[in-house]
Amino acid sequence: MKKRILFIGTGGTIASELSQGGLLPGLGAEALLGYVPDVAALCEVECLQLYELDSTDIGPEHWLGMARAVRENYGRFDGFVISHGTDTMAYTAAALSYLIRSSPKPIILTGAQKPIGFDATDSRTNLRDSFECACTDTMHGVAIVFNGRVILGTRARKTHTKSFDAFASINYPNIADVRDGRVIQYIVPECLSEPLFSDSLEHRVGLVKLIPGAGPGQLEFMLGRCRALIIESFGVGGLPHAGGMHELVSSAVREGRTVVMTTQVQNEGSDLAVYATGRPLAEDSSVLEAYDMTTEAAVAKLMWLLPLSRTAEDVRRLFYTPVSHDILTLPE
Ligand code: ASP
Repeated sequence: MKKRILFIGTGGTIASELSQGGLLPGLGAEALLGYVPDVAALCEVECLQLYELDSTDIGPEHWLGMARAVRENYGRFDGFVISHGTDTMAYTAAALSYLIRSSPKPIILTGAQKPIGFDATDSRTNLRDSFECACTDTMHGVAIVFNGRVILGTRARKTHTKSFDAFASINYPNIADVRDGRVIQYIVPECLSEPLFSDSLEHRVGLVKLIPGAGPGQLEFMLGRCRALIIESFGVGGLPHAGGMHELVSSAVREGRTVVMTTQVQNEGSDLAVYATGRPLAEDSSVLEAYDMTTEAAVAKLMWLLPLSRTAEDVRRLFYTPVSHDILTLPE
C-alpha cells in the first residue's frame, strides 16, 4: 500500500515568484506538487496550505500552528512534508522537535535556494528527496532534507546564504544522505509508539552576541526584558572581567531569570570551565551552559520548557534532558 503523506505549505523561496518588490511566496502546496509529478508514483499526497510567508515573518505562533496541523492530522497520515523558507528553517525544525517529541512518523522540512519555477533550481530535488524520506519507515521525528543531506531537526543550521548546499548538521552527523533519490540512512532516531505533543511557547527568550569591548548596557537591557537570555560569548566561553557583566548575570539568575551561556563559534561547543573568564559561571549551578547545542535549539528549547517549569530547578532539569540528541555533553 502506498504511504499517505500530508504536504504542508508555508511559503519561502521554493514557493516564490518574481514580483516588483522582490521575490514573494505565491505558489501553494498543490502548485509545488505539480512540479514533481513523479512523487505520485511513490505516495498519496494531500495538500494543506497553512501560510504563504517568507520565513523571515515566521515565529513562535507559526511553529505552534505547524505543530497543531501535524497533531490534528497525525492519525490519517504516515508522514509529513513541510515546505518552508530557508532563512529561519533551522529554528522551525528545532521548535517542532520540542513541540512534537519522539514521533514515530517522519516530519520533514524542506525548501530551496531558488524558486521552483526557475530553470536552475534546487527545489525539485529537495522536494522529491523529502517525499522519499517521509516514506521511509525508519525516518522518525523531525528532520531537514536539503541538498541530499538529512539533518536532525535539533542540529540544523543555515550555513550558506546562496549555495544549494545551504544547511549543515552542527556537532552531530547527518542522519542520512539522499543520493539519486535513494535514502542511505546511518542513524535511526529513537521514537515512542505515539508522539508527545506540546502546545505552548514562551516568547520572552532573547539572545545577545558579545562583541569585543561591549559594555554591560545591552546585557542589562535584555536581562530586564527576557525571562531567559542566551549569551553567545567567545570561544569556549566566558565574560569580560571589566564592566560588571559577571555580577549582572549572577544577580539575574538569583532573581529567577534563566541565563544560558554559549559560544558564537559554530563547531565543537562551549566549555566555560576552561578559562578564568568563564570558570565562575561554570561553577554557578544557576547559570546554564549550552555546550554542544546549537543556538537555534537552545532558543526553541527555552521557549518550550519555560511554560512547563515552575522552578529554576525544573528549568535546569529540562534544559539538560536531551531531546532528539540536541545536547550530548552534560554537566558533571
Ligand atoms: N527569504 C527566504 C525565506 O526564508 C529564503 C529562502 O526560502 O531561501 O523565506
